Amino acid sequence: MNGLEDCVFCKIIAGEIPCDKVYENDRILAFRDIQPQAPVHILILPKRHMESVLDLADLKTGLSANVIEAAAHIVRLERLEASGFRLLTNCGADAGQTVSHLHFHLLGGKQLTAPLA
Ligand code: AMP
Repeated sequence: MNGLEDCVFCKIIAGEIPCDKVYENDRILAFRDIQPQAPVHILILPKRHMESVLDLADLKTGLSANVIEAAAHIVRLERLEASGFRLLTNCGADAGQTVSHLHFHLLGGKQLTAPLA
């Protein structure tokens, strides 16, 4: 796992690396995945650097709810609520997490099959 200074998502949040932004507020950023696995593949992340959903759960700031609320907003922006979607986060080596800044994948726009990602 990379350190904070090497975090590609922190660099995107800082505007040092471009992204295809879908949504932003003061705590959350969402942008399209550079290697989409579905017609809609958006990454939703807290701007505050943390590695995993376990770190998010440990916070008592309401950020967990903010992430879910942002995800629901984006689902509606992308008009996925009727057809369905998948919202998931990979945590650690066994899940194949490749970027150590917590992010949720929002996938949709086609029939999603296993494996999950
Ligand atoms: P994970 O394997 O769950 O850690 O997911 C990391 C995701 O980040 C992958 O789906 C990558 O395609 C995506 N990704 C990596 N770098 C970028 C980038 N610069 N812009 C957009 N998506 C990226």
